[in-house]
Amino acid sequence: METLAKYPPYRDLVIVYHSVSDEKLKHVQHLFPYRSSKTFIKDVDELSKAFDFIDWETFLERKTSKNKIGKPNLLLTFDDGYSDFHDVIAPILKQKGIYAINFINPKFIDNKDLMWRCKASLLISKIEENKDLLQQISSFKSLQLNPVVSDIKKNLLSIKFENQNLLDELATFLNIDFKTYLAQNKVYLTTDELLKLKQDGFGISAHGWDHPLYQELSLDGQLDNTQKALDFLENLGLNNDSFAFPFTDFGVKNDFFEKLSKANPRLQYTFGAAGLKLDSRFKNLQRIPLEVENYSAKQVIKNEIIYYNLLKLIGKHRIKLEIISLLR
Ligand SMILES: [Zn+2]
Repeated sequence: METLAKYPPYRDLVIVYHSVSDEKLKHVQHLFPYRSSKTFIKDVDELSKAFDFIDWETFLERKTSKNKIGKPNLLLTFDDGYSDFHDVIAPILKQKGIYAINFINPKFIDNKDLMWRCKASLLISKIEENKDLLQQISSFKSLQLNPVVSDIKKNLLSIKFENQNLLDELATFLNIDFKTYLAQNKVYLTTDELLKLKQDGFGISAHGWDHPLYQELSLDGQLDNTQKALDFLENLGLNNDSFAFPFTDFGVKNDFFEKLSKANPRLQYTFGAAGLKLDSRFKNLQRIPLEVENYSAKQVIKNEIIYYNLLKLIGKHRIKLEIISLLR
């Protein structure tokens, strides 16, 4: 691990997680493999040996690390504003003196609604645990569902943002109430917790209003969804100088970046999650997703660096806009 520090292609790496929990989280268990608190602590301890965890202010300065050993910098980020950021993650990080920023979707704050992908995960969890639902599901007309769990899983996870009402219809059909789930499970951070986290030195910033896939929105739709989230944060006195794309920035055109920064002169950086890659758009940075099953954070980063160097050999380490627009 000590030698890892020699390899990062640029000094500031940004990593992203969603949740850390020792509970079974039905609303995300089919979306990503989240860390247990023990595994997360192990990740952070291992990373601390090779990297210098930095805060947002230091990140914005983009200076080389102050420490004499010359470790590369690491910015820790989380997405989606899940409540375990307050209950599990923040206490661990406070004890270790590590900063993190959480990119939230204001629509769900205070447990007001469940994000559409979480609805899909919850439905799959409920169907898996109740065989009676499997019998019922084949007569749900809006989606022709084959009553085989793996097929249903694939089907529900392929529902798009614009068709998310299908998830609500299926829930009603199966007598599953998302509101009841939200009342019994604290899925998201509350406004009070956001303010408390800010007081404790953590960053809270924007991840779009309600987590759409940006490439499926019109330019106006992309700008509205982002602005609404940035305005919510500004009104609460939280960070409105950064934005992390929900899912991916893939397929988002230059116009979006230009108009967004024009309307928000304070905006410093936008973030994707395409792994270790340089982005041809100057202020759009790619993060390394760390929730990879059976791989420690250290291993994930190591693999990303090896892959990056391979791509660099063939000149493909930079995301080129021209290529992205050709692929659309
Ligand atoms: Zn997200």
